[in-house]
Amino acid sequence: MASEKLLLIPGPSPVVPRILDALAQPTVSHVGPEMVRELRGSCENLKKIVFCKNGEPFIISGAGTLAMEMALLNTVGPLDRVLVLSQGYFGQRMGQICQAFGLQHDVIECEWGKAVLPGELAARLSKHGYEVVVCTHVDTATGACAPVEAYARVVGKAGALFIVDGVCATGGVPERMDDWAIDVVLTAAQKCLGTPPGLSILVLSERAMEKRRSMTSIQAYYSDLLRWLPIMHDPAKYFSTPCVNEIRAFYEGTRVIMEEGTEARFRRHATYARAIRAGLAALGFGFFTDSRFAAPTLSVVAYPEGVDDMAFRSALFENGVVIAGGLAQTLGKVFRMGHMGNLSSDDVRFALEAVERTLETLGHGFMTGAAVAAAEEALGSGRKK
Ligand code: PMP
Repeated sequence: MASEKLLLIPGPSPVVPRILDALAQPTVSHVGPEMVRELRGSCENLKKIVFCKNGEPFIISGAGTLAMEMALLNTVGPLDRVLVLSQGYFGQRMGQICQAFGLQHDVIECEWGKAVLPGELAARLSKHGYEVVVCTHVDTATGACAPVEAYARVVGKAGALFIVDGVCATGGVPERMDDWAIDVVLTAAQKCLGTPPGLSILVLSERAMEKRRSMTSIQAYYSDLLRWLPIMHDPAKYFSTPCVNEIRAFYEGTRVIMEEGTEARFRRHATYARAIRAGLAALGFGFFTDSRFAAPTLSVVAYPEGVDDMAFRSALFENGVVIAGGLAQTLGKVFRMGHMGNLSSDDVRFALEAVERTLETLGHGFMTGAAVAAAEEALGSGRKK
């Protein structure tokens, strides 16, 4: 790792040297040949990452929240109703964005650590009409991964548009837009894609683009995807100056993913999640997330009796690993460890060894070597190169 500490917060994820080198290339003209090649290449690769043949990709300066806003503003008309499926913090944010723009919406919430069940969605859609359904794929506060494929089947039957917030999932968990009939995947650069923060990323299906075209005006200017469409088709055109260096890094990041292969990448994420959880369980940690919904991209981990959150996290930092605390109702009770993007199996081992050293520092009893031994078993089947 180029960075001094291993960054295992649930995003940004560590950026490998090859991508950092791409970021450090010269700042070129935003409408010059390098940008034409690299933005075009990024768009092509992005479509492959979300399995979308004929949709329209958008890569725009911003972050995940702007992508959430763009997805809603470009697909929800003034007479439309939105149904938000919320399994936590970022589902609530989706509701807040609807509220901020006066979009008619309802929210189905579930207990933190679980996901809304497809049956609940079907029951709601059989009683009330919605033009758009939105879900969070992986909620970064709760570690719960929603059953997106099953949602898509239900939403498809009801004929609504289906938007997926993939900020903590895209590139680490499958999102098969064409096969499952997802209309919008929105995401950001800094998590499973393994690139530096700074981009709002969306892919819209043909149907979602038709929906945008059917609306004569929307409450947006910079966020109006029809203004960006000509640039995504021909980056030699100008609308608003793109973050040139970030796009150069993003292009390299998508090349890393193409080289690894999407399916291998999904398997690797699942393997590392199993390995990390096996290792932590061997040391006496528990898990906040209902195991039926545990995401391959992060773990929300409950402390063993007597281990203090702040003391643990700051000692782990000293031992070389950065993790995050709980959010809202879980603050002080859990830590969140991301395991997404371009990690290696050695990173997984290093993290677990650092957790052991940390427990030792805190005087907490455990069996030395237990975490890595438990993780090795899971890693055996899915070691990265
Ligand atoms: N959705 C999800 C699921 C997220 O995890 C995040 C960021 N943690 C966001 C949206 C918002 O993204 P950003 O912080 O890049 O605005």
